[in-house]
Amino acid sequence: MKTPFIVGTALLGTLAVALAQGTDFVTIGSGSTTGVYFPVATGMAKLVNEANAGVRANARSTGGSVFNVNALGSGELQMAIAQNDITYYAYKGTGIAAFEGKANTKLRVLAALYPEVLHVVARKDSRINSIADLKGKRVVVGDLGSGTEQTARQVLEAYGLTFADLGQTLRVNPTQGISLMQDGRADALFYTVGVGASAVQQIAQTVNVNLVPVSGNQAASLIRKYPFYVRYNIPAKSYKGVGATVPGVAVQAVLVSTSDEKEDTVYKAMKAIFGDEKALKALHPALNDNFDDAKAVRGLPAPLHAGAVKYWREKGLNVK
Ligand code: GLU
Repeated sequence: MKTPFIVGTALLGTLAVALAQGTDFVTIGSGSTTGVYFPVATGMAKLVNEANAGVRANARSTGGSVFNVNALGSGELQMAIAQNDITYYAYKGTGIAAFEGKANTKLRVLAALYPEVLHVVARKDSRINSIADLKGKRVVVGDLGSGTEQTARQVLEAYGLTFADLGQTLRVNPTQGISLMQDGRADALFYTVGVGASAVQQIAQTVNVNLVPVSGNQAASLIRKYPFYVRYNIPAKSYKGVGATVPGVAVQAVLVSTSDEKEDTVYKAMKAIFGDEKALKALHPALNDNFDDAKAVRGLPAPLHAGAVKYWREKGLNVK
């Protein structure tokens, strides 16, 4: 019975010291443990804590982008990773039923991170070669609160389909999605995620799959209607069994906070996260292959946070 008491006392001690020194606490919202947000947010929290600059951070696993921007609004999270399109819809109070008329004008961006590519992973034995073939199939469309679910809805729409046309619309997290794909209870799985996501890797390693393309007129009409999408080719050999490049579409992952967070807190956190580019890129291949300071401030879905403006200006970038 002694150990918990000692651990508790030690923790209280650390907390007391932290409070006395005016430490700020930041919880970073991420996504499923088998996605890319989670390892990236966990790594970012570690960089912040190691900097020992008066900000303590921890990462939390969540349903994804829609949950994260809502939780930033309610103050449950202080920072989060989210899709740029979802961030824009939340900031404007538009685009998604849950945001209609509820603009969260306090949302602020810190940086764009890497492309999030729509992965439509299909079991080979389900014979799905086009999005149109998903009709009548059992499909994992993303977790509750995910950005993936919104991507899935919009991409199906571009092919003239709705969730009602699917045989089964499965709203589970990607980790549960792995098992459903493995034991054949799902035919396909949507995931808007950085290339190299563990969930997609695990499925590809254990089941014969193909990645379904999004291309041609349908991709063009999707991009026309929802301008945050860009064309993106998933490189050959990104996953086991994927021998050729797969044409598709992507949005961007952005690091977000709110104007309620102090300029100094955000500035210090950013210095810890982005100050050592090598350490940042080591957090995940999606960052390693894509992150770059100049791209980090381009085409953002909401205004930059004051602390981010300070940070990027100091790095020589011309931002407002
Ligand atoms: N983009 C996904 C979503 O918002 C999450 C991806 C991830 O966790 O890496 O649903």
